[in-house]
Amino acid sequence: MKDQGNPEKIRCDACPVMCYISEGKSGACDRYANHQGALVRVDPLTIIQSGDQKLVPFMPNAADDDGWDGDIINGQRPFVTAVGAGTTYPDYKPAPFIVSQDIDGVDMVTVVTEGIFSYCGVKVKIDTDRHIGHERDIVYADGEPIGHVMTSEYGSKMLSLGGVEHLTGGSKKEGRVTCDALLRLCNREAVTLHVGEADHQAEVVLQAGKAPILNGVEEKLMRVGCGSAAIGMFAMQWIDHVDEVVVVDDHITGVLSEHEAGKQLDVPPTGIKMRGRRSTPGRYFQVAKPGTGWGGTDIEDPLTILGPFNAKVAWEGLRLLMVSTTGEQYAYYELDADLVPQPKPISAPLRASADLIAENCEPSVCSVLFMGGAGGSLRAGVTENPVRLTRSVKDSLTHVSCGGADAYVWPGGGITVMVDVLDMPTQSFGYVPTPALVAPIEFTLRVSDYRTLGGHMDHIQTVEEIAGSQMRRIKQNESAHDPMAHKNFRWAKK
Ligand code: SF4
Repeated sequence: MKDQGNPEKIRCDACPVMCYISEGKSGACDRYANHQGALVRVDPLTIIQSGDQKLVPFMPNAADDDGWDGDIINGQRPFVTAVGAGTTYPDYKPAPFIVSQDIDGVDMVTVVTEGIFSYCGVKVKIDTDRHIGHERDIVYADGEPIGHVMTSEYGSKMLSLGGVEHLTGGSKKEGRVTCDALLRLCNREAVTLHVGEADHQAEVVLQAGKAPILNGVEEKLMRVGCGSAAIGMFAMQWIDHVDEVVVVDDHITGVLSEHEAGKQLDVPPTGIKMRGRRSTPGRYFQVAKPGTGWGGTDIEDPLTILGPFNAKVAWEGLRLLMVSTTGEQYAYYELDADLVPQPKPISAPLRASADLIAENCEPSVCSVLFMGGAGGSLRAGVTENPVRLTRSVKDSLTHVSCGGADAYVWPGGGITVMVDVLDMPTQSFGYVPTPALVAPIEFTLRVSDYRTLGGHMDHIQTVEEIAGSQMRRIKQNESAHDPMAHKNFRWAKK
């Protein structure tokens, strides 16, 4: 729309900001621009190959295109993602692309739009034992609160970042900083965050698919399991070479001679005394405080978690191995005449057992999952009767993907999706300064089902009809999800 008082500017109506954009310039989000008086989406529409059909040229001169992200796609079954598709606002308008094609004899349609998500955030899984903050500690970016530490998972710390409260419920700066951190994390960039308050603050650098950097140190390994699990897994490696093993862990420290695995292998009692709270035999909680030392505790000297050995049970020369859950730290001791552990050189088999623990650890990485709600109005771009879309998704008649990646749809009401950003094309995310994230979302279903739910039938285009648009073509990983596969739909399972 032209600005009447300023004719060289045009108004972008793709989000509530409603920018007036001068010729040759882009709007506040850099997603739309004024190109010779026409409003254009700056980034090209992204198409990925989906399916296993014979590869043939999809577009003439495809191999000559510049700006290729990935390999050339010359597939008979292109999947039009919403990346670069554009946004509809207000959402009573049909989605930017409603694309039909025949998939193995069934007329299918994919409704494609870049959704503006005010209700969105990321869940970050950080594979480390090291303490980065207590549950419920606040996570800061540029001094602004953007999320919190949530419940740890097995071998991983978890953060919940963003969400509508941080985007809209705080100061303007909090919303802007939150949106920026989410955008960069979703687009696979590294982001520096601080966790907790000044007296116990940790710095973390997070990037999807990369090892986390915790207080300046790059994490290498994710623990093999808790201390108790490690006792069970590696007991056979130890019984011929040592009398006692302690696997130090912030959550559950394991003790071989007391553990059920040790008992079944006839390991005799050693008179060892552990600090912390005994849970079940051979399993101890809270042997130390959380930290960045052995097994995610704050200790650097493992002997600090031991009490004096029981003189009625222990003996001079008792052999003791202490090892962390990643095998990165280990120490070998023998009891002297006073039953005090004295450091000794570790034997080759025990050293090999620590190496085996390390070998069984997976590399430490950060996983970033985008989570957002496809709201009431976004659905109107798909159908005039939005609740029918929700029901159709729940009934497995409509398949939801984000940039072609499989999106987990939460049970219950609404369409709340969660997707691994590494499964999506690069640069899938944008933002608008309201603030909100812009993320691609596609709804794929049979044309007949689309008609039934009140879809915008007059706006369906064949995939060939949009082939002239400026496009970025990327190759689908062979093992990746196929959003158009029949198996995604209930009707194919009858
Ligand atoms: S912020 Fe972007 S989408 Fe929103 S009106 Fe401006 S140019 Fe358009």
